[in-house]
Amino acid sequence: MLIVMKSAATEEQVRAVCEKVEKLGLRAHPMPGATRTAIGITGNKSDIETGALDEMPGVQEVIHVSKAYKLVSREVKDEKTVVRFPAADASIGGTEVAVIAGPCAIESREQAFAAAERVARAGAKFFRGGAYKPRTSPYAFQGLGEEGLRIMAEVRDQFGLAIVTEAVDNESLDLVEKYADVIQIGARNMQNYSLLKRAGRSRKPVLLKRGMSATLDEFLMAAEYVMSEGNYQVILCERGVRTFADHTRNTLDLSLVPAVQRLSHLPIIVDPSHGTGKRNKVTPLSRAAVAVGADGLIVEVHPDPDKALSDGIQSLYPEQFEQLMHEVRQIAAVLGRSVAGPVAHPAVPATAAAR
Ligand code: PEP
Ligand code: MN
Repeated sequence: MLIVMKSAATEEQVRAVCEKVEKLGLRAHPMPGATRTAIGITGNKSDIETGALDEMPGVQEVIHVSKAYKLVSREVKDEKTVVRFPAADASIGGTEVAVIAGPCAIESREQAFAAAERVARAGAKFFRGGAYKPRTSPYAFQGLGEEGLRIMAEVRDQFGLAIVTEAVDNESLDLVEKYADVIQIGARNMQNYSLLKRAGRSRKPVLLKRGMSATLDEFLMAAEYVMSEGNYQVILCERGVRTFADHTRNTLDLSLVPAVQRLSHLPIIVDPSHGTGKRNKVTPLSRAAVAVGADGLIVEVHPDPDKALSDGIQSLYPEQFEQLMHEVRQIAAVLGRSVAGPVAHPAVPATAAAR
């Protein structure tokens, strides 16, 4: 169910409707829009008696949402969601194409700083890096854990980049939430419903990657899990699916971008690194992702990819990343969007400079 408030409805009227919904044993999700507020209702097992709500002051109409996913859907909120990061002067879902770049895993302070400096100079406003790595082999490098998170927090202080890093379970999510700006939920966990609910109880934005064989519906339902718990700052990410093709690690499904945008107001970004698994395909697919309308890119960049502890063969050399930025900037412009320009001296926020 969805309650559409009148454009002149007051905050008190919105609050009164939410209280009434909660009294009925349901959950209210107010979604303010540019012209009016909509209130999504979840928790009903069957149709609810809407009469009482219909008549409340400020209510325009009560409508039935036909899709199984509700809060993610354009039926509930037509306007695009923009997730903002004021400290990094960045956003995801607005006109600027967001670029998240950095190594697959944080390996050391030196490695992280070397990567961060180069990606910040090239114009990225977000820094990625895994502290908890979901590896296929239990013997492979599993990440530095909390030490990796501390290094990333230092990177933020030094370069003003917003930090994106993965939580692999509820325990790591507690820590990721403390240090990072965006909680990444990886492809292998897209249907880990208890983890999705835990992320939904966080106040930090969530970057949700598509599962390796997830359909569009399954992907949107996973986002619905996060939102149903009250966290509406969800960013979707296409990272390739498993197919018979063996010239790439995964098949990057760029058609998912317009498919998502038709159904959902959530921003969607593309990961051409995991999506192809091959360094030489990352820049061409980045160009294509921006052309298809993605709201951002997440790209692996390593200062010395040949020595990387994970995903070296798909990680760009810093100069390749600079070239990628140059190319996607031109594609974005054609679509009336922008990609941040290179910066000679990556921002050192006042708080860090004062230390
Ligand atoms: C990652 O971004 O480092 C990662 C492990 O990605 P995915 O979950 O898409 O495999
Ligand atoms: Mn990786």
